[in-house]
Amino acid sequence: MSSGEKTTQLFDAFARAPLHFERGEGVRLYTSEGDEFLDFAAGIAVNSLGHCHPHLVEALTKQAETLWHVSNLYESPQQESLARRLCDNSFADRVFFTNSGSESMECAFKTARRWHHDNGAPQRVDIITFEGAFHGRTLAAIAAGGNEKYMTGFGPKAPGFPQIPFGDHEALKAAIGETTAAVLIEPIQGEGGIRPVPHQCLRGLRDLCDEHGIFLIYDEVQCGIGRTGKLFAHQWIEGAEPDIMAIAKGIGGGFPVGACLATEKAASGMQPGSHGTTYGGNPLAMAVGNAVLDIVLEDGFLEKVQDRAIFMRQRLAELADSHSELIEGVRGEGLMQGLKCKASNLDVVAALREERLLSVPAGDNVVRLIPPLTVEDDEIREALDKVDVALTRMKKAG
Ligand SMILES: *Cc1c(COP(=O)(O)O)cnc(C)c1O
Repeated sequence: MSSGEKTTQLFDAFARAPLHFERGEGVRLYTSEGDEFLDFAAGIAVNSLGHCHPHLVEALTKQAETLWHVSNLYESPQQESLARRLCDNSFADRVFFTNSGSESMECAFKTARRWHHDNGAPQRVDIITFEGAFHGRTLAAIAAGGNEKYMTGFGPKAPGFPQIPFGDHEALKAAIGETTAAVLIEPIQGEGGIRPVPHQCLRGLRDLCDEHGIFLIYDEVQCGIGRTGKLFAHQWIEGAEPDIMAIAKGIGGGFPVGACLATEKAASGMQPGSHGTTYGGNPLAMAVGNAVLDIVLEDGFLEKVQDRAIFMRQRLAELADSHSELIEGVRGEGLMQGLKCKASNLDVVAALREERLLSVPAGDNVVRLIPPLTVEDDEIREALDKVDVALTRMKKAG
């Protein structure tokens, strides 16, 4: 504004890289100049099946020629079908469809609070969260995330989201009280820096929630839909199922789809009029969501994700070893891997971009590598060669 020169009509809310992509195919993106990039950002873990997967293109096109939108005033066989498949493959009995992760979180918060309200404990409104969490950008979601950077300047923090340090069992026990409705956690923190929660902690959380009659809510917006090699990340762990879970990102493969999944009990407070959405679960979104599950639930698909993940993890560990001046280590699960950096993670992301490899920065000075689940071994090899070249160049430049 100071220069008086207006170059964009968009809100300046994003620090965008100076790249514009015209076309995508599989794990590759192409600029209008024809430059080719390997996409290990996947639209922030959204393009679960890569760009323009033929099955998704077909499902979306076919639906576009049939019916786009009717609202939730009418029955929806498309929603019924996707909900049934999500429930058949998870802890859940009920599903509410949304358009984003934040909206799925909002539904989760309301579902938990409403149940307590309807069951003699209206004072139970608090949803306990963990430092380093990220749950989205609505007013409630930034309160849940608890990151000052995202709350500053937006008025009072929405009440009811007490936060405790990550992994502090004593603080958690002390925080649970008469006003607690639920505990909310990402089984693997994404934006916080690819920090997996130890399996025994999630099991312990489950027991603690049962003991106190409160809900366990998972945010699997980033780590769900095959990212770890199981449909949902918590499914690696026995005895750690949630009561309520938010998903989004990967289920739409690039089309805006989100959902709040819940047990019959947890969902029972959400009766007609209690919650709503105009677009949520529209036929286009459901066609794509169903098409994503067609592929992800295909026999052998998730096993293949697990194999690719092992390969990627091994190569990354070798790279971290050979570049120990710049990289502290590797962490994550499945195809959700993070390079904990000694150099600035933003510099590493920029250096990778120079090599035409896309990655995503995260908290705690981490670089995220989150390719489409369909990535092949030779594409992983190619990407990690680029990481090697970029880090070598950084080291030489000092
Ligand atoms: C991206 C993300 C969200 C928010 O999703 P939006 O679609 O941006 O609203 C919430 N939780 C987690 C873990 C996420 O990664």
